[in-house]
Amino acid sequence: MVEPSVAIRLRNLSRSFGDVVAVNGVDLDVLDGEFLTLLGPSGSGKTTVLRMIAGFERPDGGTIELAGVDVTNTPPYARDVNTVFQDYALFPHMSVQKNIEYGLKVKKVPSAERVARATEALESVRLGGYGDRAPSQLSGGQRQRVALARALVNRPKVLLLDEPLGALDLKLREQMQVELKEIQRDVGITFVFVTHDQDEALTMSDRIAVFSEGRIAQLGSPTDVYEHPATPFVAGFVGTSNLLEGDAARAVLGRGGTWSVRPEKIQVLGVDDPVGDGRHAVRGRVREVVYVGMSTRFVVDLAVGGSLMAVQQNSELSADLNGLRGQDVQLAWDSRHEYLVTE
Ligand code: ATP
Repeated sequence: MVEPSVAIRLRNLSRSFGDVVAVNGVDLDVLDGEFLTLLGPSGSGKTTVLRMIAGFERPDGGTIELAGVDVTNTPPYARDVNTVFQDYALFPHMSVQKNIEYGLKVKKVPSAERVARATEALESVRLGGYGDRAPSQLSGGQRQRVALARALVNRPKVLLLDEPLGALDLKLREQMQVELKEIQRDVGITFVFVTHDQDEALTMSDRIAVFSEGRIAQLGSPTDVYEHPATPFVAGFVGTSNLLEGDAARAVLGRGGTWSVRPEKIQVLGVDDPVGDGRHAVRGRVREVVYVGMSTRFVVDLAVGGSLMAVQQNSELSADLNGLRGQDVQLAWDSRHEYLVTE
């Protein structure tokens, strides 16, 4: 098998602002054609990494390669990357078509080629036929897709996206997440996407780099990061922090350390129900029952100390689960679903 080539190579990348260490020794290889997400809480350094790749920010230390060429000291306009921002300001007085052609015009691309490329870019974001509209005649999601077309028309090797869906309402945002992934697959361009939204990262990415305090805490596929979090921070940031630690872990699992079990893997049983082979169980009292439409969440205080959350699909006609609040229950899970986070 041919190894995919590396589109972006970061080595020991660092950047401080005064006393604040924004990015602290980041190593990362982004593969050709990959959808890679930089995920982390506010202030963890992901935007600064993106801005350094684009060339808007100079690193204090380390190197940046694009397609094998060191661009650490190359100005932004000479790098084969384009950036799409959350605030994607289209020119209001220009048609959609002219907005998309604008960058090509600046580069003195001949008119016929401009029209052909802008038409193709509009089609790639599923807005074929919308070229004559004014930006004000489009929905928020359509405007965001025009912003994407404006970047794609330059045919960059790499597209950098800084929270591009942040301004959209939740429903539109979820719809755009699926569309953006499809568009990326179609055009085959490497996407580096910044977000602080874990669901967004899990939905779209081939791989996720989870940032914490200027470093990458974990790099892996959505399944890796969700099912096998490398640190307690990742377990808590990507999903619900469902940890069994120390004495509680010893009592339930027979050994210490910090363990994680995802809420949807945990079943809520009556105290006398059989647990089944190959499963672990722990007793507790239901503190909270939260109905969230598709599922119900239970927060259970454990007899051995600490608490766990369990989530159950509401696939049957719902009984009144609120009655479980204050009741003693057992929580049970297949022991293959418990995961050692730290020794
Ligand atoms: P957010 O999701 O809020 O954008 P982030 O993870 O993208 O956060 P960065 O924007 O990279 O984080 O910022 C990392 C740290 O560097 C923060 O503490 C921020 O305040 C600081 N920082 C970033 N840019 C500057 C700047 N131009 N001047 C001073 N400090 C900065």
